[in-house]
Amino acid sequence: MGQDIQAYNNVLELIGNTPLIKINKVTEEIKGNFYAKVEAFNPGHSTKDRIALYIIEEAERQGIIKPGDTIIETTSGNTGFSLAMVSIIKGYECILAVSSKSSPDKIDMLRSLGAKVYVCPAHVSADDERSYYNVAKRLHEETKGSVYINQYFNELNIEAHYKTTGPEIWEQTNGKVTHVVACTGTGGTLSGAAKFLKEKNPNIRILGVDAYGSVLKKYHETREFDAEEIYPYRIEGLGKNLIPTATDFDLIDKFVKVTDEDSAHMTRNIAKTEGLFVGYTSGAVMQAIKQYAEENEFDENSNVIAIFPDHGSRYMSKVFSDEWMSAQGFFDSVNAEEAQKIEF
Ligand code: PMP
Repeated sequence: MGQDIQAYNNVLELIGNTPLIKINKVTEEIKGNFYAKVEAFNPGHSTKDRIALYIIEEAERQGIIKPGDTIIETTSGNTGFSLAMVSIIKGYECILAVSSKSSPDKIDMLRSLGAKVYVCPAHVSADDERSYYNVAKRLHEETKGSVYINQYFNELNIEAHYKTTGPEIWEQTNGKVTHVVACTGTGGTLSGAAKFLKEKNPNIRILGVDAYGSVLKKYHETREFDAEEIYPYRIEGLGKNLIPTATDFDLIDKFVKVTDEDSAHMTRNIAKTEGLFVGYTSGAVMQAIKQYAEENEFDENSNVIAIFPDHGSRYMSKVFSDEWMSAQGFFDSVNAEEAQKIEF
């Protein structure tokens, strides 16, 4: 009887193989064909499910961990959610050190999945003992039988996307992809997909998206770390105040920087016009595409893949809150209709 039931054995079997969805409205005035790889279709609603599963299973294959052991990580929320989800199914403890910039709903979600969460100050330097890097490192040293995922400096982060995201894009486009555009945090998504796709066709253009207030674009252009580039910004998961080794800068052709405000409006536009309720960095990647179009990156034959990393439900108290948008001054320069909506 059981054989007749069509069911997955557990939620982890649904990770990966996310759809490509054509973008129709927000790119109306831009030459080219645009498709979003919508990572919110993963069961943990983000691209980070891929690395959580891959890194934990690789540690199991290598005999580094066994059920009952502890998974430790620093995270802006998404990686934590995915690690907590994988840990529950596979029987690991999950400890997460997160930035105070993470939205409260993200932190509550992590706790709901059984993770132990430490909230650390966002605007301290990476080498400060209070930074989430150092808190995670210390917890790892203090916890017997623990594994530190270390996504910013873990080769397996790139490998996870080399083995999944890259091949999926190649197959879904029948090899006709011309550009891939993605926000880089750890850089794992873009670097891993780029590595696979450039092996298939070295002419595919790989475009990175960075935040104002982050060092990545400048580092890409000069190979120098410029601390003066660093200042606070609002988008979570995009850009960095250090140079991650999970980013292969040689595989990225160009970076563009986007503002918090433009990206926020674009995120809301995507929901309103495409019916795609996706996160802040999905808005950032579409905003970047608009800017790249102004640099004549695309023509009629371009098949551009934008990676949409996560789901909009994680941003209800931020980019999808009119009060939050207003408090940031993001409605000051937009049309009266939108501003009026706030007054009433
Ligand atoms: N968007 C969001 C919402 C993220 O959480 C992350 C990961 N920090 C990224 C984009 C960037 O992905 P990656 O780390 O693979 O560069």
